[in-house]
Amino acid sequence: MHEYSLAKELVKTLLDGVPEDQLGKTEIVHVELGELRILSKEALSTAYGIITEDTLLEGSEIEYEDVKLEARCQRCDFSGPVSYEEEEGVHFAVPVLSCPECGGAVDILKGNELAVRKLTVADDDEG
Ligand SMILES: [Zn+2]
Repeated sequence: MHEYSLAKELVKTLLDGVPEDQLGKTEIVHVELGELRILSKEALSTAYGIITEDTLLEGSEIEYEDVKLEARCQRCDFSGPVSYEEEEGVHFAVPVLSCPECGGAVDILKGNELAVRKLTVADDDEG
């Protein structure tokens, strides 16, 4: 299960990198998710819930921020969003991308993200 191992990695990163007093009050984990990351947000969130049980992060949730695909052409000066079409019935693990201007190969600038951007931590003032 792809999502499960990613969620595990994510939780480990948080537990290792965030001070405990913040972890205990974390309500929402904001995660940047690139368009090219072909995974199920639902499965990732479910896995996150299971993995964070009995940890300081128990009860917190992931909120996703979609990162659009952006690429730069290796041949011409084009740089920007690139769309790709998935052929019906065919699912590429990695979509094949090409420059909309010249059809050349492109380098991916954005779209591969899976990173924690920030945490929403409960307010200290209660009431
Ligand atoms: Zn080009």
